[in-house]
Amino acid sequence: VTLRLLDGTTVTRPLERQADVVVVGSGPGGAACARELARHGLAVLIVEEGGLATPDDFRADAFTSMSRLYRGMGAQVTLGAPAMPYLQGVAVGGTSVINGAISWRLPRPVWQEWIDADPGLEEGLRWRDLETLFDDLERDLHIAPTDDAVAGPNSHLLGEGAEALGIAHRPILRNVHGCRGLGRCLQGCPGGHKLSMDRSFLDDACSGGAEILARVRAERVLVDWGPRRLFSPPARRPRAVGIAGISTGGAPVRLRARVAVVLAASAVQTPLLLLRSGLRHGPTGDGFAAHPGVSMSGRFADPVVVWRGATQGHEAHGLCHEGLKFESLGFDIAVAATRLPGVGRELRRELADLPHRAFWGAAVRARSRGQVRPLGQGARVHYTLGLDDLRTVRRAVSLLGRMMLAAGAEHVLPGVHGAPVRISDPAEMARFEHEGPLDPGAYSMALTHMFGTARMGTDPARSVVGPGFGHHAVDALHVADSSVFPSNTGVNPQTAILALATLAARSIVRGLG
Ligand SMILES: Cc1cc2nc3c(=O)[nH]c(=O)nc-3n(C[C@H](O)[C@H](O)[C@H](O)COP(=O)(O)OP(=O)(O)OC[C@H]3O[C@@H](n4cnc5c(N)ncnc54)[C@H](O)[C@@H]3O)c2cc1C
Ligand code: SF4
Repeated sequence: VTLRLLDGTTVTRPLERQADVVVVGSGPGGAACARELARHGLAVLIVEEGGLATPDDFRADAFTSMSRLYRGMGAQVTLGAPAMPYLQGVAVGGTSVINGAISWRLPRPVWQEWIDADPGLEEGLRWRDLETLFDDLERDLHIAPTDDAVAGPNSHLLGEGAEALGIAHRPILRNVHGCRGLGRCLQGCPGGHKLSMDRSFLDDACSGGAEILARVRAERVLVDWGPRRLFSPPARRPRAVGIAGISTGGAPVRLRARVAVVLAASAVQTPLLLLRSGLRHGPTGDGFAAHPGVSMSGRFADPVVVWRGATQGHEAHGLCHEGLKFESLGFDIAVAATRLPGVGRELRRELADLPHRAFWGAAVRARSRGQVRPLGQGARVHYTLGLDDLRTVRRAVSLLGRMMLAAGAEHVLPGVHGAPVRISDPAEMARFEHEGPLDPGAYSMALTHMFGTARMGTDPARSVVGPGFGHHAVDALHVADSSVFPSNTGVNPQTAILALATLAARSIVRGLG
């Protein structure tokens, strides 16, 4: 992999650059968009706040990798009930560097919901185009079911539990090549086997002439507002002409865009950039949607050794229509330890027993919506789960426990405040679905999939970008990440983001005539 990259720590004097398109963010959205633009011969500059990390830099312990590769050291938390950590990568390659490599096409029923709610969207999101793109993405990113030889016991047991409960399950499709089951996807793959953006699409984009400005933070979109006229409407629509930012070396950076500016800074940072640039159009920053995730561990007589094998190798997808999806979840030993009960001698016993624990997670397609607003240099994410969503979370916990017990767990640790610390009776776990607490504070959840904060739609009053990914109020400004998704998807979003960002690039190219 050879990336054309300038590191902003070396930029200590004001820097001015020009390109056809300036893309903010090098995660799946930015990388896929830049790759497609470069393929069409456009000169692309990608500006990325994080630095480049190579497999040699990745460390096994979660806390070191969080401090280096996760935004806010992994300690960003939503405001609301319950308060939830929301995890994001900050690196060349974005969150793909530290994600589980799970690859899902956008489900057709979700696409259909979007089109039914706003038929005009089909103009920019034709299903036929998406299907062709998914075929191409699966080929280009080696997307394939997890090899049984590397899946490991944590994943195999999930298959057994789901089978026992009659829930459809399968090996997870992942964007990896030669995965050896080192169980470290969430800390960065030390063998370079995960085809994260820094090892795939950014390489393609750079081969096509794109350049990455790493460790440079975009602070606002530069907008040419046109001649201002008192008491009469503007002479013409405003136009995005670049990005103003700052390098880690402390120098101001001005990037001029001849054709377009693309925001792909994630569903949290993209609306922040818009708002910080004074672009408050319509629901910018509203409509935040997510997949709250709960996890559970269970004790098995035989060792599971959750930190070996594919980080996420098996999933139960049979209840996706209910908004529930289950996955095996390989944690670093230090993170796994935080989920154990007790203190002192009891905790020591639990720690010694850690190799016998399986860990699985459930992602909930929550209906609740939140809001993203700037707070100093950071974000305020307001997000509270409604009662319906809490019922789904409760069902998720119940099913996780029942699957684990059916797979042979001696007991499970539900990790729910107010519930027994250990449950070994499947009937008790089943009762939890109706009798478990509905107090949001009882559950520990985290967010890794976020959507909807600059959503796409035909009505400028109720959306931020149109079906061609262009901002409703500002010309030459486009959004190419999951901010544009009208809703959450119920499945892991990376592949859908890659597809939509590619379509965003094509729309920019079409606009050139
Ligand atoms: C632990 C974890 C595991 C996950 N596992 C999976 C999985 O297995 N499968 C899946 O499909 N999804 C997974 N996801 C989610 C998936 O990785 C994200 O949905 C996806 O990466 C989002 O893509 P994006 O391009 O919108 O944003 P990101 O990937 O977050 O990239 C945005 C980039 O923009 C940069 N940026 C932000 N603001 C600025 C600024 N002002 N100036 C310059 N740069 C900026 C950021 O530093 C970041 O690098 C996971 C997420 C997490 C946290
Ligand atoms: S499971 Fe391990 S070897 Fe496989 S891609 Fe993830 S970190 Fe790399």
